[in-house]
Amino acid sequence: MATPQPQAAPEEPIAQTIGVSKSYRDDSGHERVVLSHIDFAVRKGETVAILGPSGCGKSTLLRILIGLIEPTSGSVREHGVALRGIHPGAAVVFQNFALFPWLTVEENVRVGLNGRPLPAEDARHRVAHAIEQVGLAGAEHAYPKELSGGMKQRVGIARALVGRPELLCMDEPFSALDVLTAESLRAEVYRLWSDGETGLSSILIITHLIDEAVYLGDRIVILGANPGTIQREIVNTLPHPREYRHPEFLRMVEQIHDIVTGVHLPEEPAPSGKRPSVGPIHPLPSARTTEILGLLEILSDHGGQMDLFDLDAITEYDFGRTITVVKAAEMLALVETPGDLVKLTEFGREMVAADQPEKKLLWRKRLLTLGLFAAVIRHLAAEPDVARSGDEIKQFLAERLPGSDVGDLFRTLVGWGRYGQLFHYEARTDELSLHTGHDRED
Ligand code: ADP
Ligand code: MG
Repeated sequence: MATPQPQAAPEEPIAQTIGVSKSYRDDSGHERVVLSHIDFAVRKGETVAILGPSGCGKSTLLRILIGLIEPTSGSVREHGVALRGIHPGAAVVFQNFALFPWLTVEENVRVGLNGRPLPAEDARHRVAHAIEQVGLAGAEHAYPKELSGGMKQRVGIARALVGRPELLCMDEPFSALDVLTAESLRAEVYRLWSDGETGLSSILIITHLIDEAVYLGDRIVILGANPGTIQREIVNTLPHPREYRHPEFLRMVEQIHDIVTGVHLPEEPAPSGKRPSVGPIHPLPSARTTEILGLLEILSDHGGQMDLFDLDAITEYDFGRTITVVKAAEMLALVETPGDLVKLTEFGREMVAADQPEKKLLWRKRLLTLGLFAAVIRHLAAEPDVARSGDEIKQFLAERLPGSDVGDLFRTLVGWGRYGQLFHYEARTDELSLHTGHDRED
């Protein structure tokens, strides 16, 4: 009979920095601290994302971690021992692909073997296998200039995988690609890691995109700038495969956005029972927030339900307007409309009873279940530091909801989103961005 084995000592991290700092001298000879006292580790079997704004030292940290450059102070280890030279188990995928233009796909991938003394047949086999794993079979003899950006980065990934690394490091690997290509490559990288065929143990992705960090990172390390220090670390337990529009995903994106921007919004009330899922993208009935909230008050004053015609009689709007407001309230699950009745739902009653801040939270929670808001937030969160022009968002809406009045739709989107503190809208410059907490009073 097997006797219980004593607990093995916890494994040493694959790669680790301890108290690492890095300074550079600028042109005038002044020392500039880029990284300050970084304790960071990648352990076996995990995916980690390092998230931080441009210039905060992410690439520098990666280079130190895998031995491409040395820290000014502190130490670097691999599997618990001091790192000498380049980390033997790590491979890197770079943002700019870093392919040799005069080499074919096959030859570029072979570079990843770094002249390992392998029998020719083995080398050939490994290269072919890596090319197949990234879906480039058939393109072996193409040159980089013949490939799309997405395919180039597939070559970059194959070149990293061909050496059978235990740790795959990626430095902003998809930021030169369009959004859809980036999404599909992220999914593929996750698959390559999770299906076990590559022998990869861990993934480290460096990114300035919150979306990307939440999609791939089971642990997200947030770096702050000037000097680069670890601000926060977040464990991401969302199940894979992750869905960018899932409310939980969006909630995590927002939470991290708030941390990055140094703003802490109140916690959302704990969701009771099952979580709402995100619906398809529908246009919004063009009702103002105040009209919708006003409707709820009227219904509440009349025992929670009214005939649509009576309701119309006591509102100042024409009939079409009343219907629009009711439809909007219905879309937000605040009312239901059996027959000609307009009836407050449980959620509608909760909204009426709530105080202002609570109302905003409830409202926001509900907006997050609407496909249209999920899509726009996702669009904004892709580059949270960048405000989008009204025209760009209208274009975005027009593509998704052809035939709708995008001017109207945009006004409604902004109105609802501002009330729910999801968006910040600068009317003067016509710019929309994710809410950062500065206009919490609106
Ligand atoms: P990130 O990858 O987060 O954008 P980097 O690690 O590339 O940031 O750079 C962090 C800071 O260090 C930047 O201000 C950059 O200009 C500076 N820096 C990076 N490499 C060097 C270098 N070799 N010499 C001087 N300054 C550098
Ligand atoms: Mg960088």
